[in-house]
Amino acid sequence: MSQPFIPAYLKLLKSDELSLLVEQAYQHLEDCDLCARFCHINRRLTIKGAVCHMGEHATINSFGAHYGEEDPLRG
Ligand code: SF4
Repeated sequence: MSQPFIPAYLKLLKSDELSLLVEQAYQHLEDCDLCARFCHINRRLTIKGAVCHMGEHATINSFGAHYGEEDPLRG
């Protein structure tokens, strides 16, 4: 019998590594290079200059489990 799927983020949460990754993500928001547009604006302060028009809190259009994706993508 196969083991139940456990998302990688749950392992990160238990190891406290998730909080470090969150901190790094906020650092990227302050000089945004999170996509190929490389706007380098502080999204925590403004959306002016952000091609995506997203501030600190992104809008998620949809989500779903895709178990067929490669391991680095599905966690
Ligand atoms: S488009 Fe948005 S996510 Fe991409 S670099 Fe610009 S501000 Fe960051």
